[in-house]
Amino acid sequence: MFEVVFLKQFYQQMKRDEITALGDSLAQSYDQSEDYVNKLHSAAFDNNVAIVLFNSSYKVDFSTSAFGQFSFAFDIDKIKGWFSRTVEEGHTRFTYIDDSLPDRSTLLYGAVLSDDLQGQQYYLYMASPLAAVETATEVIRNQLTIVTLSSLVLAFIISWIFSSRLSGPITNMSLAAKRLAKGDYSVQFEGNGFNEIDELSETLNYATRELKKTDELRRDLIANVSHDLRTPLTMIKAYAEMIRDLSGEDPVKRAKHTQIIIDETDRLSALVNDYLNLAKMQSGTEELVKQPFDLSALTETAISHFDYLAESQGYVFHTDITEGVIVDGDARKIEQVVYNLISNAVNYTGDDKSVTVTLHSYGKFAELAVIDTGKGIPDEEKDGIFERYYRTGKTHKRQVVGTGLGLAIVKGILIKHDVAFGVQSEVGHGSRFWFRMPIVHTKKKGSDEK
Ligand code: ADP
Repeated sequence: MFEVVFLKQFYQQMKRDEITALGDSLAQSYDQSEDYVNKLHSAAFDNNVAIVLFNSSYKVDFSTSAFGQFSFAFDIDKIKGWFSRTVEEGHTRFTYIDDSLPDRSTLLYGAVLSDDLQGQQYYLYMASPLAAVETATEVIRNQLTIVTLSSLVLAFIISWIFSSRLSGPITNMSLAAKRLAKGDYSVQFEGNGFNEIDELSETLNYATRELKKTDELRRDLIANVSHDLRTPLTMIKAYAEMIRDLSGEDPVKRAKHTQIIIDETDRLSALVNDYLNLAKMQSGTEELVKQPFDLSALTETAISHFDYLAESQGYVFHTDITEGVIVDGDARKIEQVVYNLISNAVNYTGDDKSVTVTLHSYGKFAELAVIDTGKGIPDEEKDGIFERYYRTGKTHKRQVVGTGLGLAIVKGILIKHDVAFGVQSEVGHGSRFWFRMPIVHTKKKGSDEK
């Protein structure tokens, strides 16, 4: 638009300035020498103008033209008129665009030359055709129309292609997302070769897989939780009946059975607490209550909770526990860790039903390890098992309460304590879960401390 509307004006103004400057310089340097005539010739050729010198009675004194015969814009009456008006108005020069002939518009310049020695008045008159620029603007205007129209069409086609390529998959994705929202995890988000859309569909597929996993795990969890709650409840009931029917009279047995009931009840509430704790821990709101405690005693107590399995199911617990190891931490949480590790070992150990618990001190650190003889954990699953709800096999028969959160809780607690932990495992031979805690001091047997 700018080109079409302003090119002509712009060009005319430029031309006007150019011719005015040329005319002014010719008028100023006017004399009657041979040199001046040559100057006029070359000015005419260099600038594509016709130049005429009139004497005071408007007779042509000299003329030169870059374009041969100079016939247009040469109406002597008009020329006289312009000059006399210029003189009347007290000016010495004029520029004028003569549009009277269509397609022949001409830029005219006139200057009154100063009196020469004979007192003769001379007039310098120049004409330069502007037709060339008009042809050029016409060409540009036509080209521009064609270019504009074809770019519009092209832009429309391109945007149509792009938008349909973009909106197609996005519409499909939103349909798939609706199905996903209704619980259909089989949906597949498909990209279309565009980077961002491919990335989005990949992310959505990932989210779907994760949702699917979480949903499956949630179902498992509900099944597990109800199963896990039922097991201690059954035991509490069994021991209560045993006290009522058998051991009620035997104070030793009764005390033992009552203790089991109490412990199992504690376990039940601990279990419920676990869910809350894990939730809190993962949201970062759970604080540790750290103080020195006897890790050796804590480990022994944890193992003793599994005595009933030794008695009734033939489990063998081997222990190698350094006595009196005092460490700094949240005893209740560390007990949970030990308990979870032992119950996993019980659940996953081999046919020999053996579980080994060791607590050794290495300089400033104590390392507690729970070792089983089960089928072990493949390397690629070693990280996964510490994630919540991660299960390697679903058909395992559980002997003790397991929430499917066991190792996630272990990891959460140990990370909060900022201590090292891990698992060494050989498929087919068993696993060794361990963690290390900094020792505050070691208590010698007989309770004198060092
Ligand atoms: P669960 O309640 O299922 O035991 P955990 O978080 O304690 O939940 O354990 C996660 C998974 O890690 C288990 O399902 C099991 O596949 C694997 N796992 C944990 N401990 C052992 C072990 N001692 N031997 C083999 N696999 C184990």
